Amino acid sequence: MSGTATPGCALTTSQVTSIRATVGRTVDPEGTTIRRCWAIALFALLLLLTSSPAHATIRYAISLDHPDQHLFHVTMTVPIDTKEHTTALPAWNALYQIRDFAERVRDVTANCGTEADTPLEVQKIDKQDWKISSAPKCDAPNSRNYVVRYSVLWDTPGPFDSQLNSHHAFLNLAEILMYVPNRRGEDVSVQFTNLPEGWQTATALAPANQLNEYSASNYDSLVDAPVEAGVLDQFTFESDGAPIHVVLDGKESAKSRLQNYLLPITRYELNLMGGAPFDSPDHGYTFIFHIGPAGEVGGGGMEHRDSSAIAGGSPEDCGAIAAHEFFHAWNVKRIRPQSLVPVDYAKEQYTPALWFAEGVTNTYESFALERTGLWSKEQFYKDLAGQIDMLQSRPARFWQSAEASSLDAWFEGSTDYGDPSRSISYYNKGDILGILLDLAIRDATDNHKSLDDVMRLMNDEYAKRGKFYDDSDGIRRALEEVSGKSFKDFFARYISGTQEIPYNDFLGLAGLGLQSAPHDSSVPRYSIVELPQSTDRQRRIRDGFLHGTTN
Ligand SMILES: [Zn+2]
Ligand SMILES: [Zn+2]
Repeated sequence: MSGTATPGCALTTSQVTSIRATVGRTVDPEGTTIRRCWAIALFALLLLLTSSPAHATIRYAISLDHPDQHLFHVTMTVPIDTKEHTTALPAWNALYQIRDFAERVRDVTANCGTEADTPLEVQKIDKQDWKISSAPKCDAPNSRNYVVRYSVLWDTPGPFDSQLNSHHAFLNLAEILMYVPNRRGEDVSVQFTNLPEGWQTATALAPANQLNEYSASNYDSLVDAPVEAGVLDQFTFESDGAPIHVVLDGKESAKSRLQNYLLPITRYELNLMGGAPFDSPDHGYTFIFHIGPAGEVGGGGMEHRDSSAIAGGSPEDCGAIAAHEFFHAWNVKRIRPQSLVPVDYAKEQYTPALWFAEGVTNTYESFALERTGLWSKEQFYKDLAGQIDMLQSRPARFWQSAEASSLDAWFEGSTDYGDPSRSISYYNKGDILGILLDLAIRDATDNHKSLDDVMRLMNDEYAKRGKFYDDSDGIRRALEEVSGKSFKDFFARYISGTQEIPYNDFLGLAGLGLQSAPHDSSVPRYSIVELPQSTDRQRRIRDGFLHGTTN
């Protein structure tokens, strides 16, 4: 409503609100302009009274009372729009695995306002959906909401799960907050209450009016930012003009060692991709780190749109993971396959493009570490040889393609699926494919272009325009545009197909060779060597590949 100006009668929301208070007063019958204004005001008032749900705010409160009981107590307040309402908890989030968060939910109740009000009927309709009926009871002039209360048990450490204990709370909100399926686009807010003495909250979400309250423009954005609560150690630094916030749950001494990784990594990736992509330039990006023994903090990293959660045994382990997660701020979070949009929280969401979204993010993790000098050239070669070893020791490479492995991601929770004769990893093969693609582009363009140009092109074509790429076809088109060469065969052989990769054909372009050790040897099975008689062209491509440059 705001911003629509009629000549001589512009109305703002606050004017409509004040008109709402003066309705019924005598109006000058002579004034046609006034009459027109009143007609518009009344129309606006009508709109206001029948307030569209699109402007409503669904509010959540999460109590952290008695953290030793590991129960998040949730109160969800929803403005009424129809007679019956469904609320649901996601079956999965972020990790491509059905984890049925509803399994942890207990004691779901609903009423119109306070717990003393008449209870509303709550009917469970399947494993993750609840129907709230008799909501019209709440349709009183001063109470146009219904309120759902429940608790969720979580005590699992690590970036993929949630935890509430006397030390801290870590929340992946999709594992805790229900949503109204047809109203995910409405404004939302979440407030944390009953925090133990001395605790604070930290998250990439925008702060709202109240203490420990945050807001987002929709449910999807709200649940794409984890929250840490506890006695927090925080610091902020600037990288290439962007604020980077660090929330550290670990030893104070980790700070400077973390910083040694975070500063060069974020600067390299921001530079590579042409600047910060974050939704709010002022808020920048947030890292939440848990550093400690795996049994206490878990391990690994989970990417989110403007933040990530990372756990590891040392600042250096965490720093290396940060090189991967930070690159996800582009690859997968903004340069995103169409098949993952919009998110379907209720069931599996299949994409054949994880070899790119995850695997090529791995490639950039190793590029970032090597190109910033955090890894030596030898470490980079050793890592690549190790990746090749991992793929070559899995017989499943002969029948499961990189695309098929992406589709089967949903099996990763099962132990049998990990058998070398059953599956390959799209992280692993995608990592190698990223390397091969970089070398192939450098070869096709005489080292004038590289995979970096493909990432930047996809950032311009898709991410910056709010568009999504058409899985492997979209990636292939970007590669062809940058290189001026067809990648049809490459995709048919190594991405949708399962042909054995001729490593030396690609490595040779940069004067590198893959050597294998004798079978019974105690040294690693593969190593990468620089060929002694490389040509000038091979050396140029190798230099570009190692330093991330073109000529
Ligand atoms: Zn923590
Ligand atoms: Zn990843």
